[in-house]
Amino acid sequence: MPTPAACLFDLDGLLLDTEPLHARAWQEAASRFGTNLGPTQLRQLRGRRRLDCAEQVLQWIAADGGRCDGAEALLAVRQPIAEQLLPLARPLPGAEQLVRRCHDLGVPMALATSSAKAAVERKAAPHPWLGLISTRVHGDDPGLRAGKPAPDVFQVAAERLGVDPANCWAFEDSPAGAQAAAAAGCLVHILRSEAAGAEGFPEGALWIDSLQEVRIGSLEKSLSRDG
Ligand SMILES: [Mg+2]
Repeated sequence: MPTPAACLFDLDGLLLDTEPLHARAWQEAASRFGTNLGPTQLRQLRGRRRLDCAEQVLQWIAADGGRCDGAEALLAVRQPIAEQLLPLARPLPGAEQLVRRCHDLGVPMALATSSAKAAVERKAAPHPWLGLISTRVHGDDPGLRAGKPAPDVFQVAAERLGVDPANCWAFEDSPAGAQAAAAAGCLVHILRSEAAGAEGFPEGALWIDSLQEVRIGSLEKSLSRDG
């Protein structure tokens, strides 16, 4: 396996174990409006932009006969909950080592995240190694037309690194994110997780059980292609 032109990393649920915390914040916010979000609904929210998630949750609240005056009102309830929870997120196993390895090898890296800039800064603050990824495309990036599952985040990330997305490895954990990376033409590595399940992912991706399996700059590789 040759070394990629660049590695494009998702953040939430891929480098940092934020997804259970995001899910809890959505659950608590929705419950204030009388809606209890189940695992299937929470799975649908993974990997998507905050505003896209808010619109979806509003629909569920309305379907339950609840009343919420729009995305801003919902986000105003969720924001303080999320701000309290997210700095507690731990790195996923192998995340720091993989990023340091890319850095040592001179493999260009970019963050391709649905998360807004301010939220990324808050989440990344306790993890100085994330500073090695200086090129970042955020969910609220002015250069973005559409969020995941649209390919834009990965296209813009590759463009900023001056590489072809087809020569990039993308690392994702959510169906929306993996679809985005596949649509951009990247070689997609999907980090398997119980919470994300196995549905809604693109075909032809590489599934991994841990970032510790990823071998860059050497021939040894234990990835299985069972997409
Ligand atoms: Mg993710």
